[in-house]
Amino acid sequence: MTFNSNGHNGEQTTIHDVIVIGGGLMGSSAAWHLSNYGKEVVLLEKQGRVYEKGSSKGEARVVRSSNIEGDTLWSYLHNTSVKEVETVIRFLNNKGTAITMEGIYTTSPISYIARHEELGQLLNNLKNQDANFELASKVEEGESKFGVNLKEGTFLHREYNTHSGTFNPRKLIQLLHQAIALKGYQIRYNSEVTGIEKKDGVYKITVDANGKSILLSAKQVVSAAGPYTGGLLQKIAPYYNSLIHPKRVFLTFLRIKNEHYNNLPVAQKQQMKNGFPVIDRTTNLECEEFFAMIESYDEQDNPIIKIGGHFQRTNIGDIDKVWQKKLNQKEINWSIEKIASYLNFLNLPIMVNQIEVVDTYSCVYSLTETEVPFVTPILEDDNSIDENFVVIAGMSGVGAKGAMAYGLIASNLLTNKKQEDPYYETAVAKLGYERIATKTL
Ligand SMILES: Cc1cc2nc3c(=O)[nH]c(=O)nc-3n(C[C@H](O)[C@H](O)[C@H](O)COP(=O)(O)OP(=O)(O)OC[C@H]3O[C@@H](n4cnc5c(N)ncnc54)[C@H](O)[C@@H]3O)c2cc1C
Repeated sequence: MTFNSNGHNGEQTTIHDVIVIGGGLMGSSAAWHLSNYGKEVVLLEKQGRVYEKGSSKGEARVVRSSNIEGDTLWSYLHNTSVKEVETVIRFLNNKGTAITMEGIYTTSPISYIARHEELGQLLNNLKNQDANFELASKVEEGESKFGVNLKEGTFLHREYNTHSGTFNPRKLIQLLHQAIALKGYQIRYNSEVTGIEKKDGVYKITVDANGKSILLSAKQVVSAAGPYTGGLLQKIAPYYNSLIHPKRVFLTFLRIKNEHYNNLPVAQKQQMKNGFPVIDRTTNLECEEFFAMIESYDEQDNPIIKIGGHFQRTNIGDIDKVWQKKLNQKEINWSIEKIASYLNFLNLPIMVNQIEVVDTYSCVYSLTETEVPFVTPILEDDNSIDENFVVIAGMSGVGAKGAMAYGLIASNLLTNKKQEDPYYETAVAKLGYERIATKTL
């Protein structure tokens, strides 16, 4: 039932179990897990059904089980996510769909190139990580094992694991929304949360729904607003403004011109396919590091390569306007030169002028001080914990591969559930509020 009140066109009297704010990878994952637990969920997304913005925008992200940085956290998040994607697919297929894991994950080798200084740390970390790999750390090994031009003092680590390679965020979001709807719960697009208040233990959520202001109530809330988190939580958890730092990053989509690509022998085309995705950290300068992957194939089956740099970050004024920001020529040239040089590393005879730009766009991700995200209840003014309001935020350049795990943890926090995995509690603690309370961010 709706009625007019407090300047809102419609105030809805229902008190929902959980409102999830933000339908990107994290909010969609949380809303799915909650609906799978039988919670009555409403997922609110300010964009229309087809997303033009958001950190989850796009068709490909690098996902891998092994990681040089940190410890087993990233490996755990990735592997848990893979299992949870299997669960959603099983649920959907039991309802009559015919979806496969290959529709979400493209299994392919993942190349990680870096300097020898990192090798000891990598090998040490890999002891605890569930990943198959091959390694070349000498110039001759680069040639004999992978047919690449390894530079002196660098190594190539190549991971081979089922469901490591790339992953399609757009498709996973679609599946999750389909699954939430099949559970009987709501996804409301074009619904922007403009205010959050807590009154008598109930959250009052003001929503601009297609230009109409409505008020919703819920017993519990998940905030998963990506780079908008700081602004959204200004009243209820103002400290997030200084914890989450949205940054602009740019992406360039490139292709070897058809006349050159079509002339490559099959073996070279395969060499190119095996060489992506790649993370290149062979330089001393962070801003020269890059990641690249095959995002899709054109109508002639020519790969479209996406490239970006996690340290090619710039500050943002108005988040809403960043998405339209054009790349400058320097950014485009940087992208082309990196890909040309990487193709030469793969022993492919491609020159800068044989590569063309297919598309470019700016996007945004959110950093925390340590680049470890937050999945945590909010802290009230007296530092007590509000267990009914969980924030998922600070998903920098590694959020996608763990998306299903972050949503699972958020849902478990709200429902007092745990996973049996022996690493689960450690992961929860690493993502949790202790860092906020003790300022070890
Ligand atoms: C260029 C780039 C490359 C990346 N590469 C990788 C990679 O290779 N591997 C990897 O694992 N990860 C990668 N990531 C990270 C990963 O994509 C993100 O961490 C993840 O997509 C973040 O999802 P999210 O749900 O937190 O944010 P978003 O996708 O931004 O979702 C937030 C949603 O909330 C909505 N929203 C915001 N405010 C409101 C409001 N007030 N009311 C209602 N809705 C609201 C937004 O419209 C948006 O849809 C990359 C990210 C970027 C940007």
